[in-house]
Amino acid sequence: MIFGTTFNLKYIRQTLKLVYQSSPKWTLINSVVTIIRGFIPLLLLIVVKQLVDIVGDSSQELHSIDKQEVIFTLTLVGIFFLLNAISGSINNLVRERQSHFVNDFIQKLIHHKTVRLPYKYFEDSTYQDLFFRAINEANYRPSKIFYGILGLIQSLITLSIVLVVLTTFHWGIVPVLFIAAVPIIIFRLYYSRKEYAIKQEHTEDERRMHYFNRLLVAKDFAKELRIFNLSDTFKNKYIEIRDQLRTRQWKVSKAKALWESLVQILSTIAILFIFYFIISQALRGEISTGSTAMYFLALQRGYAVLQDFLSKMASLFEDNLFLKNFFEFQQIKLPKEGNKPGQFPVPLKKQIEFKSIEFKYPNTDRYVFKNLNFSIPSGKTVALVGENGSGKTTLVKMLAGLYQPSMGEIRIDQINLNDIHPTDLAKNVSIIFQDFMLYNVSADDNIRFGNVDRVYNENNIKEAAENAGIDEVFSNLKDGYNTQLGTLFKHSEMLSRGEWQRTALARSFYNDAQLIILDEPTSSLDAYTEAKLISHFKNITLGRTAIIVSHRLTTINLADIIVVLKDGQIEEMGAYEELIANEGEFHRMVQSYKNS
Ligand code: ADP
Repeated sequence: MIFGTTFNLKYIRQTLKLVYQSSPKWTLINSVVTIIRGFIPLLLLIVVKQLVDIVGDSSQELHSIDKQEVIFTLTLVGIFFLLNAISGSINNLVRERQSHFVNDFIQKLIHHKTVRLPYKYFEDSTYQDLFFRAINEANYRPSKIFYGILGLIQSLITLSIVLVVLTTFHWGIVPVLFIAAVPIIIFRLYYSRKEYAIKQEHTEDERRMHYFNRLLVAKDFAKELRIFNLSDTFKNKYIEIRDQLRTRQWKVSKAKALWESLVQILSTIAILFIFYFIISQALRGEISTGSTAMYFLALQRGYAVLQDFLSKMASLFEDNLFLKNFFEFQQIKLPKEGNKPGQFPVPLKKQIEFKSIEFKYPNTDRYVFKNLNFSIPSGKTVALVGENGSGKTTLVKMLAGLYQPSMGEIRIDQINLNDIHPTDLAKNVSIIFQDFMLYNVSADDNIRFGNVDRVYNENNIKEAAENAGIDEVFSNLKDGYNTQLGTLFKHSEMLSRGEWQRTALARSFYNDAQLIILDEPTSSLDAYTEAKLISHFKNITLGRTAIIVSHRLTTINLADIIVVLKDGQIEEMGAYEELIANEGEFHRMVQSYKNS
C-alpha cells in the first residue's frame, strides 16, 4: 500500500506545534505573507486578460484605443508584478529569520535530550542508528514541513482560483487536469516510501561509511593512518560501502524516473487535448482573444500549480516519514530526576557497600558481575586490581552512575546510589577515566571544568595544579594559565600525554569530592613525576575516600586496602602485606611484575 501506516499526520501536527512554539510571531508573519502571495497570480491573470481584450478589440482601428484605460491597466500590471517580486523578497527574508528560530529550537531540544540521556545509549549500536537518523534529519526537516504546508495553502488558493476560471470555460477541464497530474504523484509517493525504507535499512552502513571517512580525515587517526599505511585500506572500505549504498539508491531512482516519464506522456496527451479544445472554441469565435489568452495562461498555470500542489503533498509525506525518527528520538524516556531525592552523605561516615550486584551490558548476554559483595570503608584509599576484562572499569562506571546494576544495590552509607540526584552525585564523586578528555580551552578552564559551580578562585586552581604536578608547566607557558591548550585553535600550546594526564588529575582534584576515583592515573607518567604525585597523594585524599585502578605497583602501594577482581568476583581483599603473605592471586601478580 502506498500510504501505509506511516502516513500518520501525528508527526505533521507535532511539527507544526514545534514550529509555532519556536516563534509564534514569525510563524504568524510568515503565514500572512504566504497567503497574500497566493492571491497575486489571480490579480495578474485578470489584468492580463483586460489588457489583451483592449488590444484585441481595437486591433483594427488604432485610434479607437482608450489611452487612459491602457495606461491604467498597464499600471495595474506593473503594480502586481512589483507586488509579486517584492513580496517574494519579503517572503525569503521572513523565512530566513524564522528558520533561525526553528533551527535554534530544534538544536535546543536535541542538546537538552542528548546531555540527559543515560550513558548506556551511547554504547549501544541500535541507538546510535536512531541518533544518527534523528540528528541528521532534524536540522532541516521541520522548517521544510512548515514551508511545505504554507506552500500547500498558497498553492491551494492559487489552484482554486485557476480552477474556477477554467470551470467558467468548461467544467470538464478540471477532471482532465487531475487525470493529467495525479498519476505522477502516486508514483512519487510510492517511491518516497521506498527510499525511506532503504534509508532505514541501511543506517548502519551509512554510519560505517561515515566512520571510514572519519578515519581518513580526522586528526585522531592521522598518526596511525600514516604509520601503518592504512589510507588505501580505509579508502577502499569507504568506497566499497558507498558504492553498495549508491547502487541500491540508483536502482530506485532509475525505476522512479522511468515510471515518471511514462506517466508524463499520459499527462501531456491530456493537456494537448484541452489546448485543442480551447483553440477550436476561439476559432469558432465563441470566446474573445483576451479570454483565449486568459484560458491558456490559466491552463498552463493550473497544470503547474496542480503539479506543484501534489508534489508538495508528496514532499510532506516524505518529510513526515523522516521526522518519525526525530520524534522517536525525542520520545526516549529520560530517568525522572525528580524521583531521585537522595543526597550524597557529606561527610561519608561509614562505607560504600556493593550488595549482591548483578550486571551485564545492554545487548550482551554475558554477566560482568553476579552476586558481587564487598565494601570500601570511608576515608580509605583502595586499589582495584585485576587482569584486563575483570570488571574494574565497569565497577567505576557504576559508581559514577553511568550504569545501574540490574540487581542489587550500591549503598553510600545507607543511601542507595541509584536514588542520589545526578547533580549531587557529580559534585561528590570525582572520576578521571583512562580515556580522559583533552579540552581545547585554556589551562585554567581545563581545571575549572572539574567543578564549574565552585566560586572561582585562582588559588584553588593553582593548588589543584600543584597537587597534580602540572603547576610549573602552566606557569611557564607564554600566557600562563590563560594559555589555550591543544592544537585545534591558533596560539595554542600542545601538551605531552603525561602533561595532559596531570591536567586531568588537576581537574579531578579541583572538585572537592567525597569520593575520588582514578582509573590508571599514572599510566602516562614517568617514574619521577609519578613519585611526585604519590608524595602529594595522601594530602589530596585526606579525609576523603579514594579508589585507584592501577597496574603499577608503585601506585598500588599507596592503598590501605587492595581489592583483587577476577572474572567479576572478589578474589582477594586486604592490606598489601596481608595479600603478599597469603601467596594468592595478588602475590602471583606481584611476582610476575617483578619478573617482567
Ligand atoms: P577492566 O577494566 O577490568 O579491564 P572492563 O570493566 O572494561 O574490565 O570490562 C569487563 C567486561 O565487560 C569485559 O568482558 C568487557 O569485554 C565487557 N565490556 C566492557 N565495556 C563494555 C560495553 N560497553 N559493552 C559490552 N561489554 C563491555
